[in-house]
Amino acid sequence: MKLTSVYIVKENVWRHVFAVLSIFLMMFLFLPQCSAKTDNKIEYVRTETVNEAGRDVLRIELGMESDKVKYTVSTKPYLKKQVIVNLSGTRLGKVKEQINPKSPLVKMIHFEEPSNQRSVVTVDMTGQVLRSSYKVYTLPADAKNKKPCRVIIDIKQPRAGGDEGTVDAKGRTVIIDPGHGGSDTGAIGASGSTEKSVCLAVSKKVKASLAKNYGIKAVMTRENDRDVHSPDATASQELQARVNVQLRNPSAAAFVSIHCNAFTNPSTYGTETYYFGSSGDGARLAGNIQREMLNLGGLADRGVKTANFYVLKHTTVPSSLVELAFITNPHEEAMLNDDYFQSRLADAIAKAISKFLTGR
Ligand SMILES: [Zn+2]
Repeated sequence: MKLTSVYIVKENVWRHVFAVLSIFLMMFLFLPQCSAKTDNKIEYVRTETVNEAGRDVLRIELGMESDKVKYTVSTKPYLKKQVIVNLSGTRLGKVKEQINPKSPLVKMIHFEEPSNQRSVVTVDMTGQVLRSSYKVYTLPADAKNKKPCRVIIDIKQPRAGGDEGTVDAKGRTVIIDPGHGGSDTGAIGASGSTEKSVCLAVSKKVKASLAKNYGIKAVMTRENDRDVHSPDATASQELQARVNVQLRNPSAAAFVSIHCNAFTNPSTYGTETYYFGSSGDGARLAGNIQREMLNLGGLADRGVKTANFYVLKHTTVPSSLVELAFITNPHEEAMLNDDYFQSRLADAIAKAISKFLTGR
């Protein structure tokens, strides 16, 4: 009896010591986080229904105070049918607790701030939560259109036939626009190669890759070395002639213009891709192209950018213009004129387009 009670006392002492140590440990662990400054806030929430590749999409736009956006996405696909976006280091600001977007795709959007280091956006969907029925991504701040950095949650209408996740782009049409041509050589490299010839060679390979690997049909604005309008056309007549190729194919799913970059300093190098400022689809297309080109290795990332280029502004389908590399840089000029590298560039662009067409 005596021995047992001593043992119990001892155990209680250790429990006590352990509890005190735990409290110190917790204070140590949690203090720095509590005092850490939350660095972001949701400034506004906007919803709109857009049509993307023939499907209705409810686009939920979260305007962010700063561009330091950190988020994770999870789903509750059964019973609740929810897509949940966890924004760390983010406060809700003046956002309402819930918003009914009055959409057939979404019942309600809930906003919670379980702690001052985290906000949670929960989307109650009406349909199944499949990998292809939602997409979460960010768009960079856009000074021209006075838009801050945004987190976009797209909720997509199920595809007809229900073949979700493995939908392919077979049978779709895209427009490929090889820059310059004919009387317009475009930029000229140090060793004398022309932008118009590189653009045409790569574009032809993009067309072949799209057909062979994805069953996607490409309509080219030019198939040989010529002006699309006429040799004596003004710049805007020439560019409009390229836009017209798309307007004559209104069911085309995308327009991609292919160019080489140029600069007075021959050491300038890298790849950049453009889209027109207000286009979410254009941003996705341009982002895909830039990513796949960089995945090749050997090209430096100059970023995805917005621009008011004529062909991006006046086409009526998602559009992007890629500057493959600098023809004015001797090293990149050599790469751009290399048949094998042209094929790899073309495969990367074709892959990016096929991803775009399947909603990625
Ligand atoms: Zn050009």
